[in-house]
Amino acid sequence: MRYAVLSDIHGNLDALRAVLADAAAHADAVLVLGDVVGYGAEPEACVDLVGTRARAVVAGNHEHGVTGRMALTWFNPYARAAAEWTRTRLDRDCTAYLDALPVRAVVDDATLVHASPHQPEEWDYLVSEEDGLAAFTAFETRLCFVGHSHVPAMWSLGSSGPDYARGDVDVRLDSGRRYIVNVGSVGQPRDRDSRAAYAVWDLDARRVAVRRVAYDVAAARAKIVAAGLPPRLADRLAAGA
Ligand code: ZN
Repeated sequence: MRYAVLSDIHGNLDALRAVLADAAAHADAVLVLGDVVGYGAEPEACVDLVGTRARAVVAGNHEHGVTGRMALTWFNPYARAAAEWTRTRLDRDCTAYLDALPVRAVVDDATLVHASPHQPEEWDYLVSEEDGLAAFTAFETRLCFVGHSHVPAMWSLGSSGPDYARGDVDVRLDSGRRYIVNVGSVGQPRDRDSRAAYAVWDLDARRVAVRRVAYDVAAARAKIVAAGLPPRLADRLAAGA
């Protein structure tokens, strides 16, 4: 069994389609860690595609912002503008679907959350080595997949000590260790690489590897500008930041 683990799609249908095409050759099922909407110009199409293709989906802070579970005063001005615009683009069924998503799910031996497994609805970022290592007490499975920071990373704990790596990680899963993996962002990477990121979790090969997929960034940018969303949200796609 091989899972494609996607996070932070952010209404970027061009990136999502490219990732799903790549995943079709490398994975048997799709898991989604939230922030399907927000920032990008095609939120409803992304929700529809995720809804039909994903085996499990958890909510991110942008789902909670769009559905009203979380006050938009918590968002930065760009995120707030995008959330307000996104609300106008989702029909009632789509909003109800997002509102019903859990904040945590378990698939095989992995916990899925958007931000931190410790109080997922606080939306705390796991960025530093310390952030991740402190989160291992908050889940019981061997693996935990997270997103939210839009930067791939891996934290591991075992008898031979802690381990931490940032970047496009490729991890051999040791039976005596536990792992947290940030799979990066499909629709708005922030690690200076404009290509979409996702991870393949291969249970038989005991491996988790981040993959990068080139997509039509210019098309996604043009749609953001045409939608009247903040131009900064278009420009950052090209910078990967
Ligand atoms: Zn996000």
